[in-house]
Amino acid sequence: MTGSATYGLSDIAGFATNMVSSFVNFLIMAFVLFCIMKAFNMAVGIGKKKLADEEKKVPTTKICPYCRTEIPIAATRCPHCTSILEDTVKDTAADK
Ligand SMILES: [Zn+2]
Repeated sequence: MTGSATYGLSDIAGFATNMVSSFVNFLIMAFVLFCIMKAFNMAVGIGKKKLADEEKKVPTTKICPYCRTEIPIAATRCPHCTSILEDTVKDTAADK
């Protein structure tokens, strides 16, 4: 014997079967982990959704009447199209 191993057809078939079963096991584990993470994220997301709904009650953004981009509610000038927002100018004038 010089040390070089000889493999028969049954050895190769066994190796292939091992590889396939390992791969299938990996896929199953990945899918199970994916489902667990999805369920976990959903459980965490329920609390976040309530917070987001509460934040929605107080609007912090408005839509620019010129370019329809969402911009901060206190903005007097649209950062997107640079038009002067007359609604805010009127509001601050009314406050004075
Ligand atoms: Zn704009």
